Amino acid sequence: MPEQRKLTKKEIRRRKRQRELRIKITILVILLVVLVAAIVLIVRARKKEEAPVNPPVQTSSESSQTGREEIPSQTSAASASDTEIVVTIEPEQRTGRDEQIAAAMLKATQYDYDGAIAALAAIEGADSDSEIIAMMADLETQKSALVGFSPTEITHIFFHSLVVDPARGFSITDSDSWNNGTAGFCQWMTTVDEFNAIMQQMYDRGYVIVSLYDMVNMTTDENGVVHLTPNTIYLPQGKTPFVMSLDDTCYYHSYDGRGCATRLIVGEDGRPTCEYVDAEGVGHVGDYDCIPLFDHFLDAHPDFSYRGAKGTVALTGYNGILGYRTDYCYRDRVELTADQQAWLDANPNYNWEAECEAAKRVADCIKADGWTFASHTWGHIRIGDADMEWLRTDTQKFKEYVDPLIGGTDIIIFAHGQDLASWNEVYSESEKFQYLKSQGYNIYCNVDSSQYFVQIGDLYLRMGRRNLDGYRLYEAVYGGNDRVSDLIDAASVFDPKRPTDAWLYEL
Ligand SMILES: [Zn+2]
Repeated sequence: MPEQRKLTKKEIRRRKRQRELRIKITILVILLVVLVAAIVLIVRARKKEEAPVNPPVQTSSESSQTGREEIPSQTSAASASDTEIVVTIEPEQRTGRDEQIAAAMLKATQYDYDGAIAALAAIEGADSDSEIIAMMADLETQKSALVGFSPTEITHIFFHSLVVDPARGFSITDSDSWNNGTAGFCQWMTTVDEFNAIMQQMYDRGYVIVSLYDMVNMTTDENGVVHLTPNTIYLPQGKTPFVMSLDDTCYYHSYDGRGCATRLIVGEDGRPTCEYVDAEGVGHVGDYDCIPLFDHFLDAHPDFSYRGAKGTVALTGYNGILGYRTDYCYRDRVELTADQQAWLDANPNYNWEAECEAAKRVADCIKADGWTFASHTWGHIRIGDADMEWLRTDTQKFKEYVDPLIGGTDIIIFAHGQDLASWNEVYSESEKFQYLKSQGYNIYCNVDSSQYFVQIGDLYLRMGRRNLDGYRLYEAVYGGNDRVSDLIDAASVFDPKRPTDAWLYEL
């Protein structure tokens, strides 16, 4: 206490200033602590608000796995404002971006440049993505160099069901009737090896499959009448469009024992495939006819198709379709031929409804796979020889027993190479044409060996087709008349397992 009494006034003032300073520092420290705490709370609160960003990101990665794009735009706004969240999104976004680019470039590979450019532009951040910008510029350059093809310069090839086993398909026996069948098979059929060689050679020569529907623009007037105008198809220099159809994809009873597929089915991968029974009677599933063979060729060579186009599958009805016995004759057991009766006898558990259900399931699968169906007339009739009564009856049978299974069609491919009008008739004035047009048919195909046979009238597309079968191959290789040289080298396509006896080809 004595020392206290010794304090001078000066010292008292100094101590007072020191106390005041300590108080000020303490207040400042408290304020700082409060400020820091407030900042931490605000940051935590903001992070909590932005937490719902995650679900849309998951959605986008799920959808990109199924091949669909579209990342919700709110994700980009949120992710751009917070570095920490961008780090968690980026890998998923990157996967989506790569898949979206791949999907866009497949469109370009199949000659849909506008679709590809639009798909690239739709990718999130495309306008500031130098890689995407360069791709879009490259596609614009490719697009500006395309060559337009008039539909009148498009060739149309067709095949029947393929012969898997030439030894059985072309076998000659002591039976005259069997040998008539053999001659038919030699002329009308193509083997699996020949089909594969034709596809490869046409691909190597720059051919690109287009759809019949790519050749025309269709509009429907107020009376429901469909009008057609030519459509130009654009392809790169060096590419040439063609159309393909498959006749009689019904696996007729007359094909039994000829080494062809027995029917089309839905494969384990959900795509169309074939059943086939070999010479030893062992059943197989696989690429035993044009549809799965072409599909797998296209998988490996996607630039063989214009915008995913595939062929047109022409069906009759009298033996059912696609290898299923769906006709009313089997159901009602009426008007049966000997082979139909034999088939029913061999299949006592046959159920017409179940057979139609199975056929429809396969037809749906084939359509979903990119193919279209056509009428080949119900009874494989000779359209030129048939009278109106016969044509009406036949057309109604097709509409009643085939259309419900395939979902209807506006394409008719005439059988026996006939056409509904002769060369000097005005097509649209023919009574048969007017009837078929009234029944909803817009596209009419015949058989013609010339390179191009295309007429587009106001009410129709009429097109000739070229058979790439034993008849044409034999004619080209042994008959001194090569009418397929624009498409293939016939000598290298001709199957060495095919017989070369002239009488089988009736040239
Ligand atoms: Zn036919």
